[in-house]
Amino acid sequence: MDKKVHVALWICWIIATPIFLTVAFDISPPAFKGYEWDIAAFLLLMCLVSIWPIIINDTSIFYVQGVSLVVFLFFGLFIEMILTQIAVIVLLLKVRVGFKDLYRYPLNALLFYCISLGGAGVYYLVGGTHGLLTFNEDFLAIIAYGLSVFIINQSLLSFFQVFIFKMKFKFLTRGFLWELFTSLLVFPMGIGLYFLYLQAGMKAIFFVGIPLLGLSIFLALYYKTQRINHYLQQASEIGHQLTERLQKKDVLDIFMEKVTNMIPLEAAYIIDVYEKDKLRIVRKFENGKIHVNVEEAKSPDRGISGHVYIMRESVIFHRRKQWKHIHKSQLPETVESVIGVPVIRNQDLVGIVILASNKKHAFDRAQLMIIDLLSAYLGVAVENAKNYEETRRQSEHCPLTGLYNYRYLEHKLDREFKHLQQRKLDTLTLILLDIDHFKAVNDTYGHHAGNEVLIQLSKRLLQYVRKKGTVARYGGEEFVILLPNFEKQNSVAFAEELRQLIANQPFEIEHSLQNNNSRTISVFITASFGVATAPIDADDTFSLIRHADRAMYIGAKKAGRNKVAAYVS
Ligand code: GH3
Ligand code: MG
Ligand code: MG
Repeated sequence: MDKKVHVALWICWIIATPIFLTVAFDISPPAFKGYEWDIAAFLLLMCLVSIWPIIINDTSIFYVQGVSLVVFLFFGLFIEMILTQIAVIVLLLKVRVGFKDLYRYPLNALLFYCISLGGAGVYYLVGGTHGLLTFNEDFLAIIAYGLSVFIINQSLLSFFQVFIFKMKFKFLTRGFLWELFTSLLVFPMGIGLYFLYLQAGMKAIFFVGIPLLGLSIFLALYYKTQRINHYLQQASEIGHQLTERLQKKDVLDIFMEKVTNMIPLEAAYIIDVYEKDKLRIVRKFENGKIHVNVEEAKSPDRGISGHVYIMRESVIFHRRKQWKHIHKSQLPETVESVIGVPVIRNQDLVGIVILASNKKHAFDRAQLMIIDLLSAYLGVAVENAKNYEETRRQSEHCPLTGLYNYRYLEHKLDREFKHLQQRKLDTLTLILLDIDHFKAVNDTYGHHAGNEVLIQLSKRLLQYVRKKGTVARYGGEEFVILLPNFEKQNSVAFAEELRQLIANQPFEIEHSLQNNNSRTISVFITASFGVATAPIDADDTFSLIRHADRAMYIGAKKAGRNKVAAYVS
């Protein structure tokens, strides 16, 4: 919020306080002679009730109006106003308004001045008086007072939210419904207290005051469990979404998005523990945006993440003072409250989640518990995703050469053919190559040496093709290269260069079939190539492979090997 608004609020408060109090004094002069102890008892009750507010989205709901009603009816506007103002201070002390939020004192004071004055105005308009009222005659005036207090309170809250906090106007919010619900409970109790007070004096405060206090404690606790329920529901939903994801990056994105939406905070971090003792931030939420930044690794001897890493347990800090002793924190200067939670999977610490807020006492135990729970989900989901990615990688690659395998090639061919049909691609070339007399290599130098040739040849293919296409091991000693957007002529030239690259440079292999110690020898190897290009040579994947194979077999192998042959229909 703007500093100017803060100043304006304080100025309004300084000007309004003497005016409002004088007006209240004049309208309804205080008559407290002989009632000092009663007033003190009411004040005590109001202060006690203010200690157990319900806090919904930064607005506190408290039941002081149940008691202030009695004070108003019996002692008049002035005393009610003073007592309510003191209760408001107790409330704000209880919710620990920090120095930065000090403007909330004048804001709330003004709000309650308006409520007191407005309620009293309506009460007097319908003919209400003070002192000894009777239930039948004054009932309507009392109801009018209660209603107007509720309506003024809600209207002003909405006004503040829209004009001071710049939030969107919403009518049936959770805060509104809670306020309505608690008012319906507390207001009749206030009326009861008033009439009992007329009959029994101070004793009434005891008989009705204690249940009222009990009710406010009970409701505060009830609200807390409601809130935890709500969080648990959200957490289980988020858990499902996390564990459904198959990619690690999706898991991290969803976690970050959901957590930053669920809990009011200014910054959040997911830190990955990779290898031993190496931490890096993999997701960062600052200034309302999620950043995907893989930071330089750092050792875990610094900051709150380091602290969580070493202690292997969650931490919650309510103010900067509590954590500023922690060495070299990298959190923004403005941060006060922090939650730090380890992500543990199979007894290993695999990550750390940090949440930070610029407010003091921003997080509570319930939120810590939920983040703990979600971090466990995160650990499982990340591991699942990693396993899935690894399984998938294995199922698409040849373990010997590391090239893509036939299964991957089939899918890739299908996809590329679709692109061809959708005209995202102009042409698609398939080069098939088969090593010449490879059986002889195995027979002469051993199977192990043969494998070595396959590995080295794969490296040569990858190095030559690079990003221009896809290299796959088709089977045994046969390889395929897919080249998108290569004219047929260029494809043949490309294959010819590759043929020379294989034939002209020897392969270094270990001769493993000799009796004496194995030694490295150079072997020259050649391969035969078949080239077919869609759409001119084939309409579907199957004929593209078949035609390249035919060209290789007839045009290259049969023609003497170590040759490149293009398919001719
Ligand atoms: P051609 O010039 O007609 O292609 O002769 P070739 O010997 O290369 O062809 P053939 O199909 O007769 O033999 C292929 C050989 O490739 C047989 C097989 O032992 C060998 N081979 C297939 N896969 C592997 C492998 O993974 N490792 C090794 N070392 N050899 C393999
Ligand atoms: Mg073969
Ligand atoms: Mg062969």
